[in-house]
Amino acid sequence: MVISKIIMEKIITLPSSLYQALIVEGESQLPYEACGLLAGFQKQVTSFWPLQNQVKSSSRFFVPKEIVTSTVKKIQNRKEQVLAIFHTHPSTKPVPSQFDLKHHPDDEVDMVIISYKYGIPQLKWYQIRHNTYTACKLVIS
Ligand SMILES: [Zn+2]
Repeated sequence: MVISKIIMEKIITLPSSLYQALIVEGESQLPYEACGLLAGFQKQVTSFWPLQNQVKSSSRFFVPKEIVTSTVKKIQNRKEQVLAIFHTHPSTKPVPSQFDLKHHPDDEVDMVIISYKYGIPQLKWYQIRHNTYTACKLVIS
């Protein structure tokens, strides 16, 4: 008997209203990076929590720990899970930088990047494992 290992591609469902909210939030912060948290249940996104990027940079974002902690509490009070950390790349591709990977706090949480490098914003969802990234399939519903 042949036992084959099938690696399932992770499929994330994002409501189109939240997709639009992410694009608009990212645009509103240009030329600086925007950031925030995405929450929901397993692979279904149900809420978006924009956070103020304190460093006003086009290549970095920073949010004080107490703001992150209080936002995570609000998410948990709604019985949702933090699914991903979102940030934008105002003028580079939607690919995690070495800096992004190095500073990603928790492999249980995914990474979402929207790039404004091209005419149409590009949103990518990544799973992070030991400083490497894998793109997930995104269904906008
Ligand atoms: Zn980045």
